Amino acid sequence: MTQTKVTNLHGGTVVASYPFDDSASHQRQGHYSQSADDSLFRALALVYSRNHPVMKTGEPNCPDTPDETFKDGITNGAHWYDVPGGMQDYNYLYGNCLEVTMELSCCKYPLATELHKEWDLNRESLLAYMEQVHIGVRGYVKEAVKGTALANASIVVEGIRHNLATGNHGDYYRLLLPGTYNITAVAPGYIPMTVNSVQVSEGKAAELNFTLAPAVSEPSGSITETPPVFPPEHQPIQPQEFRHHSYADMELFLRKYNSEFPSIAHLYSVGRSVNQRELYVMVISDNPKVHEHGEPEFKYVANMHGNEVVGRELMLNLIEYLCRNYGTDPEVTQLVNSTRIHIMPSMNPDGYEVATEGDVKGYKGRNNSNNFDLNRNFPDQFVTITEPRQPETIAVMNWLKSTPFVLSANLHGGSLVVNYPYDDDREGITRYSQSPDDKVFQQLSRKNTLMYNGHPCEDLYRNEFFKDGITNGANWYNVPGGMQDWNYLNTNCFEVTIELGCIKFPWAKDLPTYWEQNREALLQFIHQVHTGVKGTVSDISDGTGIPNATISVQGIDHSITTAHTGDYWRLLTPGTYSITASAHGYKPLRTYATVSKDGVEVVDFRLTRLHTDSNGQSPKGPQPTQNPSEREFQSLIKDLSLGQGLDQLVRSTATENRFRYRSYKELSEFVRGLTLNFPKFTSLRSLGQTVEFRTIWALEISNKPGEAEPSEPKIRFVAGIHGNAPVGIELLLEFAAFLCINYGKNAAITRLINETRIVIVPSINPDGREQAIEKQCTSTQGRTNTHGKDLDTDFFEAQPETRAMMDLIQDKSYTLSVALDGGSLVATYPYDKPVQSVENEGTLKYLATVYANNHPKMHLGDTGCSNNGQMGNIPDGVMRAAERQSHMGSMKDFSMDFGHCPEITVYTGCCLFPPAEQLATLWAENKKALLSMLVEVHKGVRGVVRDKSGKPIVGAIIVLNGGVRVFTREGGYFHALLAPGNHNIEAVADGYQQQRQEVVVSSYEAASNIIIEFDMDNSIFGLPREFVVASAAASMTALVVTACIIWCVCAAKSNRQKDGFHRLRQHRDDYDDEIRLTSMGSKKSLLAHEFQDDSESDEETLYANKI
Ligand SMILES: [Zn+2]
Repeated sequence: MTQTKVTNLHGGTVVASYPFDDSASHQRQGHYSQSADDSLFRALALVYSRNHPVMKTGEPNCPDTPDETFKDGITNGAHWYDVPGGMQDYNYLYGNCLEVTMELSCCKYPLATELHKEWDLNRESLLAYMEQVHIGVRGYVKEAVKGTALANASIVVEGIRHNLATGNHGDYYRLLLPGTYNITAVAPGYIPMTVNSVQVSEGKAAELNFTLAPAVSEPSGSITETPPVFPPEHQPIQPQEFRHHSYADMELFLRKYNSEFPSIAHLYSVGRSVNQRELYVMVISDNPKVHEHGEPEFKYVANMHGNEVVGRELMLNLIEYLCRNYGTDPEVTQLVNSTRIHIMPSMNPDGYEVATEGDVKGYKGRNNSNNFDLNRNFPDQFVTITEPRQPETIAVMNWLKSTPFVLSANLHGGSLVVNYPYDDDREGITRYSQSPDDKVFQQLSRKNTLMYNGHPCEDLYRNEFFKDGITNGANWYNVPGGMQDWNYLNTNCFEVTIELGCIKFPWAKDLPTYWEQNREALLQFIHQVHTGVKGTVSDISDGTGIPNATISVQGIDHSITTAHTGDYWRLLTPGTYSITASAHGYKPLRTYATVSKDGVEVVDFRLTRLHTDSNGQSPKGPQPTQNPSEREFQSLIKDLSLGQGLDQLVRSTATENRFRYRSYKELSEFVRGLTLNFPKFTSLRSLGQTVEFRTIWALEISNKPGEAEPSEPKIRFVAGIHGNAPVGIELLLEFAAFLCINYGKNAAITRLINETRIVIVPSINPDGREQAIEKQCTSTQGRTNTHGKDLDTDFFEAQPETRAMMDLIQDKSYTLSVALDGGSLVATYPYDKPVQSVENEGTLKYLATVYANNHPKMHLGDTGCSNNGQMGNIPDGVMRAAERQSHMGSMKDFSMDFGHCPEITVYTGCCLFPPAEQLATLWAENKKALLSMLVEVHKGVRGVVRDKSGKPIVGAIIVLNGGVRVFTREGGYFHALLAPGNHNIEAVADGYQQQRQEVVVSSYEAASNIIIEFDMDNSIFGLPREFVVASAAASMTALVVTACIIWCVCAAKSNRQKDGFHRLRQHRDDYDDEIRLTSMGSKKSLLAHEFQDDSESDEETLYANKI
């Protein structure tokens, strides 16, 4: 809430406007749209206007509209201008509230110094207006037999076609102008009762109670007088702890309930505030610690503005209420059993501590302790939020991403209204900004306004007259960076913002009343999570749930996705819908569902896998068989890819380390130490020496270090290419130690090491590193090698350091490479050189996104770096490297073009050389992301290529989607990473017929294992096939240097890389033909083949130019 907008108090001119705001014709202006209570509205508007010194003149003289006048300072809304969907009409039509809109001043957002003046101008009017609540008729409706209150009975005034309903206590309040009326009370199952000639006079309301006799439903004849039996009314236990809870008090409260009700309560923290206070969440559910399949997750977040405290106390009341009534009260028991309710009593505990009791509409404590408004701190769809993302915001964003929430409310104070998305629009104009789910949001908001149904508390809460409202956020006022829109746009959760009361920090004595007023509505809102459609999307063949499947509803441009076990929830208003479930690798399935007013419709989808063959037939040829161990590994990959799997691994494998920066000498001793302490699964080798003769180390971690194991994917981690950015070096050293220490101790780590070949090159530029200076965030000292060469621009000229790396990369056995650098907070993907389009960009970007998503801050897409102009939004925290800083001769590009290995570069933070104290935090931020790469390298597509006799074909080309090529290694194995989705792969080998297959790649499953079998004769021109391959390979080896030079020349020449790229391709094709023609079986070639040190043929170098 901001001070200028109290519920229906608007700004822009000075007038009191009354219903209706629009008419059926929606004529833009000048059409008087009269409501049933027109004369009453006129009178109410006049009361306000007459007491307002400016408004009553009818001449607001606003600078923008100097000629606009309003007779007596009032106007019919539609007569002034048509406002479809306005709040005041809604109040009137759907609630019991009569509402008038006051335009308070010409200026919508006056200067703070003007506010006092505004108050003086409006004070009398506001007070006079509130007194009007006392005119009319009030009373109760009861049933005749026991005197029980009748809720929801209609109050009908003859001649006025607008009925009211009684509240929960049978109470009603009907505003009427002085006069004589005939009034009737009607309730289903009872005989209506009419009282004629009710006198309404000025001043106090007339009291009029109704007692309704039950309608006799039995056929006449049974005269036995059996009054209807009412079950004894169950009275739930009400909360006792009404007081303002300081942080310490709240913490103890939460701990107390957590320990007293362990079976349904679970306390956790999602992070910490700026001042290190925990952001607590209490879960109340029958199985509170875990997500149960099919059970929706609900949340309440309160006290985001530290001085808006009603929500905070209500949340503690709610916790107490749910805990104490579970098992005895049917409603509470049912709700807790069927819902996982998360309650965050305070999102801004720091602000709360400085707020003061009695604050009605102040600001002290509203912001967090860095003085940022947290409800303006979320990424926005229309506006770039330049303020730094706050710890509270980041913690909440990560929390919302980690749990499949369905429905949420954000509890505020300072007004009395329910506000729903969107909160802003592109132009920043105050007007209706509709989301695709506008209807759903309206229904949700409406349900919540139950809390305002007829609870008049004249003495204390006369301002309750500003009640019963819902509003579209932007139509009220623009809130860029708000939390509710972020929920809707970035998660499956629907959130509304509830303003609980006009006083931000009421006196403690008033808290019981707030609870009484809100209890029913708070519970009702939770019930809303059980509406719409829900169900499970599963695989028809084995019934397993499909995570991350998409549920889309025709006509609503907003899909939601399934949770980890395939369960989903789709909130919808009553109606019939066409709903489609789709998932990678499955045929989409569409069905119709009818949503009723009560309860949730269960719609399950059982999807059929697409055939792996593009012809729609089952794949030909042999199918790989899986042994139990493989299946076990597949399920490990799935566990680690979904939900909390990786988080649990990170939590369960904490290692102790006193972080510090290591000199070259220490680094060398450290890596040697690893091989001495863990000799069975580590090996160390030198890749070469630097200009100053320091060794560039490569550490391999594998269950069979030094052995080829071509069936396993191989991953490379490198750091320190820029000596002045040494964070990556320390992270990789810790990563290596972490893996080694947990080998044999943690099952998941052990298995990952057993199934992967991990090569870590911690420092490529140790000479530069020796020159760099700690705590220099932007200094370039140590960036280059001793010859002053930036090594990341040198992958063709070959300094000693780059030469060493080029040899490693050209090994071509790697599936994935991750390079660590500094100076920003982003992950980049190839290319560094300026190319217009990248063939497999989807896959490359996806790999970078996986890293960023597993980093607590990077995926938020806000580097927060002031030093390099990269402030603001970088979607998902990833970008193509050339967009960041385009340059030629990079390691990444070389890895792509000559290593056939995608490489992503991770920039770990803004500061190039931060103080050592920050290393522990940096490790904590990157640990999960580094591990995620070890998991990711097992995805994509893998398999073996062989001939009919089962003999593996080495050096066969696997073409991915008609573009990118990989080559089979020893044993005929290949492995390529691909973004989730459907892909075409072709296998080509000299002398064999081309094979084609369609594969489906999933984001959470290990690579599909395929067997490609060539069925042609195993000889070419009468020579054994191996012979041909070997000779071809050798000839190609001779061409490596040529190809390399061409690559360099083209790369260096061309800013229009697209052209260069075509030329290159042309060259390659020429050579291709040349080789086929000229290189059949010379002795020299055979010899050359023997000298090849690695498992693969060098044939692939020929295709190195392919981008
Ligand atoms: Zn607020």
